[in-house]
Amino acid sequence: MGAKILNGKELAAELRREIAEKSDALMAENGVQPGLGVILVGADPASASYVTAKEKACAAAGMYSEDVRLPEETSEAEVLEVVGRMNRNPKIHGILVQLPLPQHISESRVINAIDPAKDVDGFTPVNIGRMIIGEPCFLPCTPHGVIQMLLKAGVETAGSHAVVVGRSNIVGKPVAQLLMRKAEGGNATVTVCHTATKKLADFTRQADILIVAAGRPETVTGDMIKPGAVVIDVGVNRVPDATKTKGYRLTGDVDFESAQESAALITPVPGGVGPMTITMLLHNTLESAERAAKH
Ligand code: NAP
Repeated sequence: MGAKILNGKELAAELRREIAEKSDALMAENGVQPGLGVILVGADPASASYVTAKEKACAAAGMYSEDVRLPEETSEAEVLEVVGRMNRNPKIHGILVQLPLPQHISESRVINAIDPAKDVDGFTPVNIGRMIIGEPCFLPCTPHGVIQMLLKAGVETAGSHAVVVGRSNIVGKPVAQLLMRKAEGGNATVTVCHTATKKLADFTRQADILIVAAGRPETVTGDMIKPGAVVIDVGVNRVPDATKTKGYRLTGDVDFESAQESAALITPVPGGVGPMTITMLLHNTLESAERAAKH
């Protein structure tokens, strides 16, 4: 058979063009340029490359970005000070703290310090609570990107059985919440699987829509997928590969080769969910700036 590919790169490019147009219009009509503040602590190469990609995307969308890169040994108090400065800076409409933070810094204390009105990652308890009870909020970027991909591809979520593999606060739990919302892109019946799930394949094989965010390559293989299912692979894993210039290749949490034999629609890695995550960050930053312009 062979599944149709759900190309996140193309979709993200289309959405980013729309965001850039709206960003230009906001500047022309209200003199407000959307601004993103980015905080990176430490020298993790994957985190540094995500931050660079986010800044480039901001610039391409006509947005201002302010980048604070701090050494690994920075204290929690210093990071909180930078967050506080960004909270008060009117040029910054969205704040992103690149995770993970070094062990000696409490991620929850730092995230909780972000003004919810600038929490464009949608990670603060206030935003998460609002999402769950259905109040206006910034939706977390990766889960929001997944829902947008399903909507743009014309996938009917209502009445479907969606199975989510993974229950992290940044992907698994919020994507399950969005899929079960009584709203467009929701109304699915949702099952959430994790490491204590017995016989994972018994659940994944029931999925009309299978979202995999396990953080482990090949967690899901073709034999675990119902024929005709929609498969969204959120995973990004760096697998050592001496044939590649960088010494590794990127792979998802789904074994793409075998999965595409069963699935009707599948996201690739790279070029699937990843570009949509950054796009939804730009979307939230623009929305925050639009709100600021009204005040
Ligand atoms: P995480 O915090 O490590 O969570 C992984 C989740 O998967 C946990 O809930 C874990 O269960 C579950 N899990 C792991 N192995 C499993 C298995 N064999 N069977 C069932 N459940 C299993 O990871 P995350 O932050 O959610 O990220 C998941 C993946 O998405 C990673 O590869 C990450 O790099 C990627 N990601 C991509 C983007 C993007 O923009 N494309 C954004 C964020 C994350 P327990 O709770 O029981 O431990």
